[in-house]
Amino acid sequence: MKIVESGKKLYARGLVKGTSGNISARIPGAEMFLIKPSGACMGKLNPEDLVLVDLNGSKVRGELNVSMETLVHAAIYRARDDVQAIVHTHPPTATAFGIAKIEILPLQIELVTLIPKGVPVIPFEKPGSEALAKVVQEKIADYDAVVLENHGIITVGPTVEAASKLNEMIEEAAKVQLSVMILTGGRIPSLAELEKKFKMQNYIE
Ligand SMILES: [Zn+2]
Repeated sequence: MKIVESGKKLYARGLVKGTSGNISARIPGAEMFLIKPSGACMGKLNPEDLVLVDLNGSKVRGELNVSMETLVHAAIYRARDDVQAIVHTHPPTATAFGIAKIEILPLQIELVTLIPKGVPVIPFEKPGSEALAKVVQEKIADYDAVVLENHGIITVGPTVEAASKLNEMIEEAAKVQLSVMILTGGRIPSLAELEKKFKMQNYIE
């Protein structure tokens, strides 16, 4: 089960602590997805504990309660047919960028294809709320990764592995950007400057 494997990796790599964060995957050909239950640790997930949920966020099957951010996951699946998996974590450095309201930029060449427009910060809304689901749904139409102010990050992808890898890459990008800002006293290139340097429009070949 890919959700269980990826959850263990994300936990082992420190992207989530305790029972924080959540992970889900769409059921191919069905208007449903599997999600981590509420109160479960990402590092110790059991396949039988995952909860089956419809695209409105209502539980279809499962003994445990649905994850706190199930409404956000459902809203993303409704908005993006291409998204097959969603990962939400609270990694320390990327989360700090959300608190500082500084977007994470594709400063390294390896990030250009992953986050060509950077990773925007979504203004704070209460965790688990319809309001949070709405603002994330609007933003995720244009981005595969977003930072939630004072909260954490969300990444999406065509597979659980891809969404998880992107999640790890965002935390690494945040660490590098923080180091650059320390070295330069906060100066970083703009997205326009990066586009010019990397010629982002033509990079994907
Ligand atoms: Zn969270």
